[in-house]
Amino acid sequence: MRIDLHTHSNRSDGTDTPAELVEKARAAGLDVVAITDHDSTAGWDEAQATADRVGITLVRGIEISTMRDGASVHLLAYGFDPDDAALHAELRRILDGRDDRLPGLLAQLAEHDMALTIDDVVAQSGSAAASGRPHVADAMVAAGYVADRDEAFRDWLYDNGPVYVERYGAPLAEAIKLVREAGGVSVVAHPWARKGRAALTPDVIAELADLGLAGIEVDHNNHSDEVRSQLRSLAADLDLVVTGSSDYHGTGKGPEFHLGAHTTAPEQYERLLSQ
Ligand code: AMP
Ligand code: FE
Ligand code: FE
Ligand code: ZN
Repeated sequence: MRIDLHTHSNRSDGTDTPAELVEKARAAGLDVVAITDHDSTAGWDEAQATADRVGITLVRGIEISTMRDGASVHLLAYGFDPDDAALHAELRRILDGRDDRLPGLLAQLAEHDMALTIDDVVAQSGSAAASGRPHVADAMVAAGYVADRDEAFRDWLYDNGPVYVERYGAPLAEAIKLVREAGGVSVVAHPWARKGRAALTPDVIAELADLGLAGIEVDHNNHSDEVRSQLRSLAADLDLVVTGSSDYHGTGKGPEFHLGAHTTAPEQYERLLSQ
């Protein structure tokens, strides 16, 4: 059993349609794949139809953009009711916050002689539920200002960088509660990638476990071997499920983020389903 619990389609900042994503997951030899677009369930129906057709198990999920103490934290959520009104309203607020930030980002880009219009960005975000920084990066690439998404983030769009506007993120504890109340389970995504380690200390993760957090994404490209072994023992101490996933974004992230790059052990997947 090969299980990948974290992937993106073009309903957020991935580059494959939900159907392509699921077909490629099957071709990559996965038995189970989760679709986890940022803050949107818009890809679920198309992904499910394709999964039924090609014979792969689809886990319906999202990756929620949350904040804790001013730091960005990504929360994977699975198996909740997509029609839950409270969760839906919170996701809407995050998506709207992403779109509302766009004029501010474009004004800062113009100050750095990289003029772009909203239409330039929307041409890139296409069928996505909102236009995020990765789509701004794509528009910068299309205009010839940078070579690729990585360069756009490295030189300009990084957190608190030269082109940066904060946006709304759901309070982390509230997001865990909303997912639980909508009948789902949550797993903190790549907790110790980038600057996450300072925000999500072991004490904080213990608090989140008390609030109902079900698991930790341990095996992820942005975690070193050392970080993975530390997180694995923390998960064991707190009785949390351990997941491993690719965080595939199509061509929106490097080839090392290919489908099945990391996988979740079948017994951990079973534990997640039984919560
Ligand atoms: P936003 O939520 O619109 O502010 O955009 C954040 C998203 O940008 C994250 O979810 C990542 O998918 C993506 N991202 C963040 N940093 C990078 C990076 N260095 N290179 C490429 N994508 C990134
Ligand atoms: Fe992303
Ligand atoms: Fe993430
Ligand atoms: Zn992701």
